Amino acid sequence: MTENKRQFRAIKGTRDILPPDSALWNWFEQTARNTFESYNFREIRLPIFEETELFARSVGADTDIVSKEMFTFNIGHDAESKEEPSQTYSLRPEATASVVRSYIEHRMQTFPGNLKLYYVGPMFRRERPQKGRYRQFYQIGAEVLGQSDAAAIDAEVIEMLMTFFKRADLTRTTLYINSIGDKNCRPQYVEKLREELRKVADRIGPDSQRRIETNPLRVLDSKLPEEQAIIGKLPRISDHLCDECREHFAKLKEELRLRGIAYEENWRLVRGLDYYTRTTFEVIAEGLGSQNAVCGGGRYDGLVELLGGPPTKGIGFAIGTDRAILSLQESGKLPSLPALAVFVAWMGQAAYLTAVNIAQKLREAGLAVELPPEEMKFKRSLALADKLGARYALIIGEDEVNSGTFTLKRLADSDQKKLSKFDLLEYLESERRDTRA
Ligand code: AMP
Repeated sequence: MTENKRQFRAIKGTRDILPPDSALWNWFEQTARNTFESYNFREIRLPIFEETELFARSVGADTDIVSKEMFTFNIGHDAESKEEPSQTYSLRPEATASVVRSYIEHRMQTFPGNLKLYYVGPMFRRERPQKGRYRQFYQIGAEVLGQSDAAAIDAEVIEMLMTFFKRADLTRTTLYINSIGDKNCRPQYVEKLREELRKVADRIGPDSQRRIETNPLRVLDSKLPEEQAIIGKLPRISDHLCDECREHFAKLKEELRLRGIAYEENWRLVRGLDYYTRTTFEVIAEGLGSQNAVCGGGRYDGLVELLGGPPTKGIGFAIGTDRAILSLQESGKLPSLPALAVFVAWMGQAAYLTAVNIAQKLREAGLAVELPPEEMKFKRSLALADKLGARYALIIGEDEVNSGTFTLKRLADSDQKKLSKFDLLEYLESERRDTRA
């Protein structure tokens, strides 16, 4: 038998997030958690796969996501199992459907006040991979579910989102908002749009032509240069909103102004998913080329009912973490993240004991410490400490053990100090506080 030496690689559209990037990801997600928790949102952890039908019903069977992009499978027939052999499951392409499914399943309408939840995790869509577009990508999202549809909720959600971006230093962004009406006014508008589109059907591309019948709002999303002039002349939803929707949108803008949130209106912002009503919003960021949307969101007042739950209002957003991180990296404004603080360079058995002990103490004090598992000459130790990017090398040899003092070398400028164990801990702890501040 010949040995199969095929090397495995990550599947197209998936990727590994390696250090040091993983530290940036963790920091970004932690900044989101801290920000969202300061607005009293709490985390919900959801399954990665659900019944295909859940997504078909909520996201919409005619959307690209459901009709073309889901990873769907069935578990197959198992005589022992009571599961339907024909039951199909899909990797989640987004998480709002799961949040709503969970809301209904756990009767969260009985929880006090508005339910404010956030989630963090991977999503899956079989899209054509390119920069900023992956088949496994990551989202950070938040949802508010409850009885109220006050515009202040929409505004608070948007404020929280923009506050998070500010804290993460993702500042070269633009927030776009729109209202796409509700079940009272949108159907008439969609019909009007369809009529107008039929008149120009021979001048638009095949995708838009198809959407005239399936989902005319999506034509407004088109990026094709030759369609732009035609789309520019189509009827605008803002001229067709009912009084309630018009008022809600006006109130939202007032609320955003009083919270000091800059925005632009974009009447073509309809979003790809079927379940949106009234408020829709999107944030775009610089440095990303064509895939420049870093967050999409909106109100979905009918979704809970559509999935068999009680009448409930809802609003939420999803941030594309991959793209947000790409934009941060392009801007060069990266945070200085805690790196290796101390490399313990030891030589000799007596020094080793001291080294193990001091490494424990430093780690307890919250410092990142590298303790070489095997003895090395000081020259090699110091060279490795340098390559690993350690801030300090702590030198422990026979002299240090005998005198009970340690030599601490700052690698950036080779500044060297002799310190007692007590002073060493004190010094490194205060230094850690300063670098974190
Ligand atoms: P959506 O759920 O389609 O509203 O998307 C919300 C955000 O998720 C977008 O603004 C993107 O930042 C991100 N996103 C969506 N699809 C992908 C993908 N295939 N790869 C990377 N990010 C994505």
